[in-house]
Amino acid sequence: MNQTNYRIDNLGECRIPSPLTSLVAGADEEARIMLDPILKKGQVNHQEPSSLELSGPRRKIFFTPEKTRAAIITCGGLCPGLNDVIRSITMVLWYRYGVRNILGLRYGYEGLNPDFHHNPIQLNPDVVEDIHQKGGTILGSSRGPQDVGVMVDYLQEMQIDILFTVGGDGTQRGALDLVEEISRRGAKIAVIGIPKTIDNDISCTERTFGFQTAVALSQPSIDSAHMEAKAVRNGVGLVKLMGRDSGFVAAYASLASSDVNLLLVPEVSFSLPKVMHFLEERLKQKSHAVIVVAEGSGKELLPPDGQDASGNEILGDIGVFLKHAIQAHFRQNGRPVSVKYIDPSYTIRSARANADDSVFCFRLAENAVHAAMAGKTGMVVGLWNGHFVDIPSIEAVRQRKKIDPSSSLWTSILDNTGQPDLI
Ligand code: ATP
Ligand code: MG
Repeated sequence: MNQTNYRIDNLGECRIPSPLTSLVAGADEEARIMLDPILKKGQVNHQEPSSLELSGPRRKIFFTPEKTRAAIITCGGLCPGLNDVIRSITMVLWYRYGVRNILGLRYGYEGLNPDFHHNPIQLNPDVVEDIHQKGGTILGSSRGPQDVGVMVDYLQEMQIDILFTVGGDGTQRGALDLVEEISRRGAKIAVIGIPKTIDNDISCTERTFGFQTAVALSQPSIDSAHMEAKAVRNGVGLVKLMGRDSGFVAAYASLASSDVNLLLVPEVSFSLPKVMHFLEERLKQKSHAVIVVAEGSGKELLPPDGQDASGNEILGDIGVFLKHAIQAHFRQNGRPVSVKYIDPSYTIRSARANADDSVFCFRLAENAVHAAMAGKTGMVVGLWNGHFVDIPSIEAVRQRKKIDPSSSLWTSILDNTGQPDLI
């Protein structure tokens, strides 16, 4: 993010008074959230600071609620909170705005391609009543591209005014293609994204839903790895966590546990001899060790094996690789170790959201609805400096958010695990 002002595109002038009764009378609809809240000593900034639009309801809206048809899709991998988002969008549209026509499209972008014959679900408060109590997504998901012309034809034929795209970077790139084609046709269809990444690696938002649940649900696996390691002489507990390109889940899970001795993330490359040296020293001193590895770590040692339908790299299992490497190394050393490997990834991805993520999902979803009803498009909702913000989708997907090895977060990791800076 290096431009000054991030503006959200709008389908047209908002002329319809909002039916919301809870609008704060003095709320400033023009308010913006500064990107950089740090005031450096001696710094005088005469330019307008870089900023994002503050999310929230508008006094005047673009769409007439009773004539509006909205649709929701969920794409990509599972993440705790998907059903919370579907439920919250439905509830806010229905009860706050009076929108009665809400479709749940099935199996991601396939749901926008009539060739698949996936019939949409008509969503209402009865249908979504208790879906947040379950993990997964009631709409289903898919990977792989669909033809953008076919999808916009479908949106137009179905007279869909608003499309909510709940998904990761791939989904939001797909949404941008839709926005471009919709705009080329001069159609008035709003496309609003709710970023879904358990890895918390989307730019311009300090948090994504499911991340906190993932960190919390990692704890039993790390505890078990610790117990297993301590129960034997020279025990090594090894846990693989989510994080294809960014190691935030593994990092926060390690900090939360405080039992982790070595954290390996994609952002910090490592060499096997150094890992083995560290383990030798650790086992000499304490006779047990706990390692957490993010799934995308060590791509230099274990190159990806092809691509999935969406073009994502298929990663080798770094956990299995490390387990065998550690066993082989210590066997050769004449000091065999017992490695217990735990991979809780699917258990975590498919779980329901925890309380804090459920709150976050609701607030993201309600702000997505406010933006949509105001005719905004080509944007995702997020959180920045503690405020909900509207972010141009193009900025959200421009680059991944990653752990900076020179940041205070990485210092915390080194302080917490005791591992050396370079491994
Ligand atoms: P996850 O974090 O689970 O990977 P994702 O949204 O990135 O979530 P993908 O499977 O990568 O999941 O993509 C979801 C959908 O978006 C798929 O239908 C895919 O074809 C489409 N998509 C992915 N990348 C692009 C792109 N660059 N342009 C257009 N569409 C894309
Ligand atoms: Mg992806």
